[in-house]
Amino acid sequence: MSDRYGDFVQSTIGKKVAKNLGLPLPESLDRFESGQRLVRGSVLVGRADGGDMSVSAAVARILSELHAEIYVNSRDDIKDALADAGIDAKANTGGDEKFKVLLFDASNISNADELKQVYEFFHFVARRIEKSGRVIIIGRPPEAIDDVETALAQRALEGFVKSVGKEFKRGVTAQLIYVAKGAEQHLDSTLRFFTSARSAYVSGQVVRVSQGDAVDVDWTQPLGGKTMLVTGASRGIGEAIARVLAREGAHVICLDVPQQQSDLQKVASEISGSTIMVDITSDEAGKEIAEAAQKRGGLDAIIHNAGVTRDKTLAKMDEEKWDMVININLASIVKLNRYLLDHEAFKDNARIVCVSSISGIAGNLGQSNYATSKAGVIGLVNATAKQLADNDKGMTINAVAPGFIETQMTEAIPFAIREAGRRMNSMSQGGLPVDVAETIAWLASPASGGLNGNTVRVCGQSLLGA
Ligand code: NAD
Repeated sequence: MSDRYGDFVQSTIGKKVAKNLGLPLPESLDRFESGQRLVRGSVLVGRADGGDMSVSAAVARILSELHAEIYVNSRDDIKDALADAGIDAKANTGGDEKFKVLLFDASNISNADELKQVYEFFHFVARRIEKSGRVIIIGRPPEAIDDVETALAQRALEGFVKSVGKEFKRGVTAQLIYVAKGAEQHLDSTLRFFTSARSAYVSGQVVRVSQGDAVDVDWTQPLGGKTMLVTGASRGIGEAIARVLAREGAHVICLDVPQQQSDLQKVASEISGSTIMVDITSDEAGKEIAEAAQKRGGLDAIIHNAGVTRDKTLAKMDEEKWDMVININLASIVKLNRYLLDHEAFKDNARIVCVSSISGIAGNLGQSNYATSKAGVIGLVNATAKQLADNDKGMTINAVAPGFIETQMTEAIPFAIREAGRRMNSMSQGGLPVDVAETIAWLASPASGGLNGNTVRVCGQSLLGA
């Protein structure tokens, strides 16, 4: 689907007109292409003072694998951690260097005064971040901290990150990663995702990394040898998910309703995947998926993407529209997960990723059925995450909550509402199906064992529900 205004303001004349009229100026976002380096530019890395080096050491190890140019501020003791990881960091002289990534380890901040170190690190380089740059702060989960002053300081980081995401513009994203003590070795997949162009339309997010099973991956093909099933894979976001998972090495089982047979077969054949034609609300769906999975030795991931809207204000909404949306978007996921878990269709360390929506977080006029179903998905993820953490199979469940994504679903929205939805975010534009797909590929990775129970918005930091 095309964004004519977005295309127009990429031209010189369009830029001038938009600037003069005070209209939004969407930046063309960097997006990941196969074979590209993850970080295409320099990284400035820093840390708050304090004795616990565990986060900085993990960051240094991960950066050493990314082959980016690393800078530090002169009196910063993160230099030692970087040197231990074999990185000869350059000094940030306050000159002309521009940075693609600004990364700050704030895990040692333990009171309101020490928050000043966050100000000092970012203030002096706020004008030196490149287009589609990345701001990343790493802290400790406040809910696990007993000391009041430390807990409030760690929680305060959220306000900082979300403000920076709104201020920096030009396609810059900002994220906060809360890593639990002892879970630093699980930061790899999350740092790789957030430093790269894969996270183009994800901003203002708070992600929690906790203890989990550590699984080694080949980063050139992190999903190599894995079998992953995507529901609603014939078009839109589901098609993009199937393509990205296949690009990362997975065999993808593409599922959709029989009416979508020809589109589904086209997608599956282009990515050397296989197909299942079944309605996910039907009684046979679980059995068919389990059989297909067992033929391939079990499932490494299921992506619950299929979903529908049937919008009407509540007074005008007939029972059929309510039932249909709840059944497809929510009840079928509950039923399928239960069936697949009971029938041991999942391998160890399997991933479940559900597609919610910011409508489920913010609510939306005319979408009481849809928002209920999508909020229910978040409830399902939270509750199931606890169960999975208690069993010893290393499985995880997470959700993505897309905002305005350019698909057939959003094309059906009336023009004025569509244009508002598309622009009311820090990127002033809609996202692409591939943005949701990249986020899902990160959550579905065997290396993401430390992510369980997160809901990550893919919404360009939409104002809705923020
Ligand atoms: P879409 O309508 O283009 O695709 C949905 C797919 O699901 C279709 O291929 C459809 O045939 C399939 N499907 C529907 N009912 C099914 C059933 N009973 N059994 C099997 N397959 C079924 O929609 P999309 O925009 O690609 O949305 C994909 C997901 O993302 C949905 O869950 C949607 O709610 C969610 N989402 C989309 C947006 C957006 O802006 N497009 C925003 C937030 C969330």
